[in-house]
Amino acid sequence: MKNTAAAHTGRHFLQIPGPTNVPDRVLLAIAMPTIDHRGPEFSALGQEVVAGMKRVFQTEDIVVIYPSSGTGAWEAALSNTLSPGDHVIMFETGHFATLWRRMAARLGLEVEFVPGDWRHGVDPALVEEKLSADRAHRLKAVCVVHNETSTGIASRIAEIRGAIDRARHPALFMVDTISSLASIDYRHDAWKVDVTVGGSQKGLMLPPGLGFNAVSQKALAAHKTARLPRSYWDWEAMLETGRTGFFPYTPATNLLFGLREALKMLLEEEGLPAVFRRHARHAEATRRAVAAWGLDVWGADPREYSNTLTAVLLPDAFDADRLREIILEAFDMSLGTGLGKLKGKVFRIGHLGHFNDLMLCGTLAGVEMGLHRAGVPHRAGGVSAALELLSSVPSDFAPTG
Ligand SMILES: *Cc1c(COP(=O)(O)O)cnc(C)c1O
Repeated sequence: MKNTAAAHTGRHFLQIPGPTNVPDRVLLAIAMPTIDHRGPEFSALGQEVVAGMKRVFQTEDIVVIYPSSGTGAWEAALSNTLSPGDHVIMFETGHFATLWRRMAARLGLEVEFVPGDWRHGVDPALVEEKLSADRAHRLKAVCVVHNETSTGIASRIAEIRGAIDRARHPALFMVDTISSLASIDYRHDAWKVDVTVGGSQKGLMLPPGLGFNAVSQKALAAHKTARLPRSYWDWEAMLETGRTGFFPYTPATNLLFGLREALKMLLEEEGLPAVFRRHARHAEATRRAVAAWGLDVWGADPREYSNTLTAVLLPDAFDADRLREIILEAFDMSLGTGLGKLKGKVFRIGHLGHFNDLMLCGTLAGVEMGLHRAGVPHRAGGVSAALELLSSVPSDFAPTG
C-alpha cells in the first residue's frame, strides 16, 4: 500500500541547531556491545573521555559527565553550588536563558532576570554596572548562555569575565555552552568560568544523552557548603572519575564509545582551531546567502553573530513554520523552529557539528527553493553568494571578531 506522505530518497538533511548529524563512524562506535562499567576496559574508556573533554573545555579542572540531556547539566550546576534563597543574576537573551531562569526559580533561588530584547547577547557593561551596584555581594552567581540557540546570538564571555573582574565581585560565573562547545572557541580556564554546562547532541556530533559540567576549584569550594537538595546530580561521587574512569551509577556506556570516537575526530584529526575556523566560515557563507536573498538575520549586532546557527527573520505576513513544513515535505530537510516569542517569525539554520561545504550548499539550496515555493518575497542568488565565498576562500578562512 502506498504511503500518503511523499516517499523520500537519499539522506535526510537534519539542519536544526541540535541534535545534529552524527558521523557514521560515531554511530558504529555506539553500536559496539555494551561492556561492564565496573571492569578494566571501562576504566580506560572513562579516563580517556574525561581527559578529552578537558581539552574541549580548555580546562585543567574537573569534568563531570552525566547520562542526561543538557537540562540535567544545568540543574547540576545550580544545585551543587547554591543554597535555598541565594540570589543569582541571569540575562534574558532568549528562550534558553528563560528556561534556565525558570529552573533556578523552581529550585528555590532568587533570580534577578535582566530583561533583554532577544536580539542582543549579554552586555558586558551592564554586567559591570549590576555587579558594581551589589556592594553587599548578595549575588552568588552570574549565569550566562554563551550561544543562545533560539536567536543565533553568541554572548562575549571573555568580556563578561572582564566586567565581573572590574566590579571586583566574587560571584560564581556559570556558562551554558550546550550549542557552542566544540564549535565556537570557548575557554573555561582562561575566562575563569566556575561551572561550564555542556551537552552531547550539538557540536560534539553525538546523539542526545550526555550532559557535562566543567568545575573550577572555586565551584568545588562552594559545593562544600551549598545546601540546595542534590542527590543524582551530586558532584561528590563523580570527582574521581577522571582518575579512576568509573562512575557512581551506570553511565551511558555506548554514548561514551561514541564520545571517544568524536573526540578523536575533533582533537586528533581536525584539531579544535580548525574546527572553530570551519564553523566561522560556514556561518559567514550562510549570512551572505541570507543577505543576498534580501532577508535579515535576527541578531542585531554583528559582533554577536553565532557561528553554529543562523536565525532568519521572515516578512511579517509569512509564517516561518509553514516554510519549514514546505521544505520538509518537498526536500526532506529539517530546519529549526522559532522558539518562544519567535514562534512563526524566524526559522533557524543549523550549520554545526558534522558538516562540510557541500552539505551547506545543499542546505542553502533547500532554503532558497523553499522560499520560492512558499512565495516568500526574496531575491534569487543566495546560494550563489555562498558558493562564491566557499569556492574563493581557503578553508582556513577566519573572519575577525
Ligand atoms: C539545546 C540547548 C539546551 C537544552 O538542552 P537539552 O539537551 O535539550 O536539555 C540548553 N541550552 C542551550 C543553549 C541549548 O542549545
